[in-house]
Amino acid sequence: MNIHRADFPILNREVYGKPLVYLDNGATTQKPQCVIDAITKEYLNVNANVHRGVHYLSQEATRLYEEARETVRAFINADSIEEIIFTRGTTESINLVAASFGEAFLREGNEVIVTEMEHHSNIVPWQLLRSRKGIVLKVCPITDEGRLNLEALEQLFTPKTRLLACTHVSNVLGTVNPVADIIRMAHAHDVPVLIDGAQSVPHMPLDVHALDADFYAFSGHKVYGPTGIGVLYGKQKWLELMPPYMGGGEMIGKVSFEHTTFNVLPYKFEAGTPDYVAAHGLAAALDFVSCIGMDKIQEYEHELTRYAREQMALIPGMQFYGPSDNAVISFNVAAPPLGKAGRGTSLIHHLDLGTLLDRLGIAVRTGHHCAEPLMHRLGIEGTVRASLALYNTKEEIDALVAGIDRVRKMF
Ligand code: PMP
Repeated sequence: MNIHRADFPILNREVYGKPLVYLDNGATTQKPQCVIDAITKEYLNVNANVHRGVHYLSQEATRLYEEARETVRAFINADSIEEIIFTRGTTESINLVAASFGEAFLREGNEVIVTEMEHHSNIVPWQLLRSRKGIVLKVCPITDEGRLNLEALEQLFTPKTRLLACTHVSNVLGTVNPVADIIRMAHAHDVPVLIDGAQSVPHMPLDVHALDADFYAFSGHKVYGPTGIGVLYGKQKWLELMPPYMGGGEMIGKVSFEHTTFNVLPYKFEAGTPDYVAAHGLAAALDFVSCIGMDKIQEYEHELTRYAREQMALIPGMQFYGPSDNAVISFNVAAPPLGKAGRGTSLIHHLDLGTLLDRLGIAVRTGHHCAEPLMHRLGIEGTVRASLALYNTKEEIDALVAGIDRVRKMF
């Protein structure tokens, strides 16, 4: 039995009278009691707007908010708190960079490289910038095994390349990209790199300093924290040169109708009242996983992923997509052959499979997973995705395998 399950109250519930088997952690993770408590206690005892009041509660809320920033800094090993910007999540972090870095450094004809395995969050912001500024979007292809084609990537750099935006871990294929090598390659061409860390931060230790990433984005809710809070890490040398993303309270120095000056980092990028309670909740989540140890979590999930792939591979008609290096297993299943003619090689529709698994209490994701260009590359409409977290167990994998087999036999 997994000793950490007891920390997650929701895992005790039933759905359709069956024990919940929650395997949709790539979409969002469940919250441990300590995160729920941190949020509840702040609303019960502290709540006041941050950075604004001379009064006691405001100062205490501000202290908790800034302590949360320091917790994030230490967790990812950034050099300073000036480099930690609170956002609503990965999506907002990437949009911030596209808008602000784009405003400062990108001109018509400049090139941004993305990859074929990106989430829409790391495609569409660059397309919006393309409409505004006439930049060129170049796409690094993947291999048939679901890995980035690094030789092809090397060929994409030109003197006009201004940024590489790449995911650390694919939310569909489970590929862990060799981001340290990719960053080294880009820097050799004088190109800064943004890493989408939505699917990496919950599953492995991270050291942005050692990685030498220029920007690194992630979401709190995928790492056992609350919704509505995320992080953009950015090297100070870039953030200093970038204009504000949004205007409003907190991000200003002095305001008059003629002229406005802006606040120092990181506040320049935090217009309006931030979700300070969620930031505190995120810090509780990061403390929670740090206490377990990110290396231990990685090891455990790695073993669980390996076990799941092994057991699922025994199901007739199983088709995997990608290498599932880490916690993400995408698949489809062929329906059993129809009689002797053996015509039944068609796939069970991912939505049917997901819906029937749900009736057995098993929560998986189905569809294109916000990665439609990747689906085009794979030549499919969608997959079923089981995505794991530190609280999942081999028994739950067994339930998934039995569930898939049962559904398969219904077809
Ligand atoms: N990038 C990747 C790789 C993701 O998996 C996700 C979430 N599915 C996102 C970005 C977007 O995260 P959020 O919706 O929390 O902003």
